Parts: sequence; structure tokens; C-alpha cells
Amino acid sequence: MVIDGAPHVPAGAGVLDVVDPATGDTVAGIPAGTAADVDRAVAAAKAASPGWRATPAAERGRLVGRLADAVAAHGEELAQLDALDNGSPLRMLRNDVRLAVDQVRYFAGLALELRGQSIPAPGGIDFTVFEPFGVVGRLVPFNHPLMFAATKLAAPLVAGNTVVLKPSEHTSLSALRIGELCAEIFPPGVVNVVTGLGSTVGARLTSHPDVPRIAFTGSVETGLHIQRQAAADRVKVVTLELGGKNPLIVFADADLDAAVAGAVHGMNFTWQGQSCGSTSRAYVHRSVWDRFLAGVEARLGGLRVGDPFDETTDVGAIVHRGQYDRVSRYVEAGLDDPRARLVVGGSRRDEKGLFIEPTVFAFDGGPCDSVLLTEEVFGPVLAVVPFDDHEEVVALANALPLGLTASVWTSSLDTAMRATSELEAGYVWVNASSVHIPGTPFGGVKNSGVGREEGVEELTSYAQQKNVYIRVEGK
Ligand code: NAD
Repeated sequence: MVIDGAPHVPAGAGVLDVVDPATGDTVAGIPAGTAADVDRAVAAAKAASPGWRATPAAERGRLVGRLADAVAAHGEELAQLDALDNGSPLRMLRNDVRLAVDQVRYFAGLALELRGQSIPAPGGIDFTVFEPFGVVGRLVPFNHPLMFAATKLAAPLVAGNTVVLKPSEHTSLSALRIGELCAEIFPPGVVNVVTGLGSTVGARLTSHPDVPRIAFTGSVETGLHIQRQAAADRVKVVTLELGGKNPLIVFADADLDAAVAGAVHGMNFTWQGQSCGSTSRAYVHRSVWDRFLAGVEARLGGLRVGDPFDETTDVGAIVHRGQYDRVSRYVEAGLDDPRARLVVGGSRRDEKGLFIEPTVFAFDGGPCDSVLLTEEVFGPVLAVVPFDDHEEVVALANALPLGLTASVWTSSLDTAMRATSELEAGYVWVNASSVHIPGTPFGGVKNSGVGREEGVEELTSYAQQKNVYIRVEGK
């Protein structure tokens, strides 16, 4: 672990095996942290807090900019660690490096924008200032390890907070390396990385009385748990970036080739479908149904599944055994369901490495209660359903208690504008899918989360407004 600017090997701690999901080989071990390790990291972050808070904002931004430079300079190493640990194709992880660098630079550049307002007030002067919370607990999932470890540090640091980062127990290697790089850039205690299980390290971090601000990216189930846990004995600000079962709607007037390409891109098959924003249920107008499915089948036939280190691989390994079994159960549910027609894929192998082919099920008979249409699979499985009219498809899209992203395909501005206002989602693409643009607010409605990240709102969410009123004689 990295605590107080130095490597920390907890005395007598257990070790969690790091298993390469593409081979099944154990390649490393990481410390299974305990509540005592979290306490130590929080104490270091708390001690570093006054100094970091007093550091001029421009200097904080400059140092966060150096984090972006370090991620860029060590990009290949970080991408290789993730390929080994997480199983996504190396060439796609290089893309995660680029996104991380852009996002960290974006927040570094905002350092002087955290400014308050002057408010007209009778008999005096009124203004607001933004102040940091102190120690931020940042918990991230397994699907984009280096990208989340790097980008999710930037906004809280720029806002003047110190951070305790807890990566997924399944993919901690790149976060540990980023912790080492941070130790060369920031004063001791400003960035700390603790590893271990969610039920011990995560539980202690989120309920710790000296951590007033929690930001979590992960599943809905854990998010609900964290909201309860965080409320144990103090009031905290908790933001949550959670799961989705995101609809993609292809209207009759869509550019069909583009919509097919968008449906495949939107599934993030090149990360084995393991992305929260994946458009995993496609609603397709009945007039273009056959052509759409034929197009998707043709495109997926060309994807190569295999070794993440092979530069020609499109789809890598599923991150760990538990996730493989979970996704497999969804594939089996589709294969066993007479309402679901297998269009492409369906095969799996787990003897040496965990691989699941991109899989598409068509529900020719229309919407139904299949789990493939109602639950987040978080794997390479797309469900496709025909629809007839606008009201029907919007009602279907909005029927779930989730609302992260949505994607609309149409050549009509009227249809696009109507659908974007009706869809219950935090981020809507029109004639596009799965595009992340630094500066735009990403986040969910309903059970997909609370709060917005990747834009200026993320920065302000890590600061608290203080209002100051100064009475002035004669004003
Ligand atoms: P997860 O919820 O199982 O774990 C996420 C993190 O929470 C891990 O670090 C884990 O150790 C920790 N954790 C687990 N139990 C905890 C507890 N009781 N207290 C505190 N921390 C705990 O999620 P995952 O399986 O790693 O990731 C997949 C999920 O993440 C999917 O549902 C996906 O949609 C979601 N996700 C959302 C976004 C977004 O931006 N909305 C982005 C990526 C992933």
C-alpha cells in the first residue's frame, strides 16, 4: 500500500492473490488491508490536510498536472499492468491512458476556477468562498483500473482535499503504481492507496468519522450499502456513480449502418462489455429489425476474442471467476429462454483463462420480463427488442429503476429533441454512443447514482461553499 508517501506493508496482513484472468496464473499478491491500515491512511491524510489546503490553488493545479504527465510517461507500464490484472486488451487500455491524461489535465487546468460569488446585500458586502472537506474517501471498481485511479484523484486534490483511494480488490496493481508515482509528486499523506476487500477496507473507509466526503463508483448494491454505512455516526456527503441497463433506440428514419456501428460500439465489447455506460438493451423499430440484426451479426463476426497482449485482440478476458460465472448465468438464461433467439455468440471457455464471446439475443416477440432486459449483466451480452411507436419505446426505456445513459438514433431533429427530454437518464447521446468528453457531466438518475463527474460540477462537489457577510457602515 502507499500511506503517508511511503510503501506500507502491513505487519501480519493476509495476501490477496492477483490472478491473470487470461491464463489463470497467479502473478502477484496484494496486501489484504485491515481497518487498522485504513485508520493509518486516514490519519496520514488528515495530518496532511492543513498543508495541502493552504497550498495555493495554482500550485495544487500544477502538481495535479504533473500527475497527468506521470501517467502519460508511464502509460505503457500502467496499461500492461491492467492488461495482466483486468484482462482487457492492451491496445484498448492505451486508450484508457489517453482518457485519464486528458481528464486529469482538464481538472488541473480548472484550479483557478473554484471561485465564489459576490451577492448584493443590504448594509454590507456578501461573498462566497469554496473550501475543501478535508479527507476524501475514493472507492473505485474493477473495469477501468488505471483510468479511474488516476482521474478520480484529480478533482478532490485540485479542490484542496487529501485522498484515501481504495481500488477494487480484483484490480489493484495499477492503482498501487499510481500511488507510488503520486508519492514522488505530492507531499506525504496527500494521496494514500489502501488495498483489500470491500467488506473490510471499504467498510471502514466509508464509515470512518474523519472522512466527511465519500465518492464511490461501483454497483447499485454496494452503493446502497455505502449510503447506509456512511450514515453510521456522522453526516457525510456521498456521491455515487452506479450501474445502468442503458437503452439504445433505433428509430425507423435512422442511418442504419451508423446505428449498427453505434450499437456495437455502445456495448464496449472491447472491454468485454464491462462498462457502466454500455447500451445493453437495444430497441429497434420493426421496419428495420431484420436489417439491424443482420448488420450487428456481420460486425460481431469480425471481432477476435483472446490474449489481451496480442495487438490484434478485440475482446479480452472477463476480469475474475465470480464475474465470469455471473455473466455465464445470464448467457445460459438467454439460451434456455424460448423467447430469446441467439443471433451471435453464446460460447464461453474457462479452462485456461476466462473468455465469453460477444453475444446477442433477439426477442422477436417483443418486450418481456427476461432478466436480459431488466438487469445489468456487466458483460458482453446485448439484448435486442422490436418496437412500433415512440410512446411505447420511451415507456419501455424508462420502465427500469436505473437511468445512467441512453442512445437515440434518428435523422429527425424533432424525434431527437422529444426523446432526449423524455428519457430518464443522466447522459443521452444522439446518433452516437459511449463517447466520454472531458468537461461534460457524467452521472445517473434514479438508482444509477447521485452527483455528476467529469465536468466542472465534479470539482465543485469536492468543496463546500462558505458565505461571508461584512457589515459596512454607511452602505
Ligand atoms: P462493486 O460495487 O462490487 O465494487 C466497487 C468497489 O467497492 C470495490 O473497490 C469494492 O472493494 C468496494 N466495496 C465492495 N463492498 C463494499 C462495502 N461494503 N463497503 C465499501 N466498499 C465496498 O463493483 P464492481 O463489481 O467492482 O464494478 C462493477 C459495477 O460498477 C457495475 O455495476 C458498474 O455499472 C459500476 N460502474 C459504474 C460506473 C459509473 O460511472 N456510473 C463506472 C464504472 C462501473
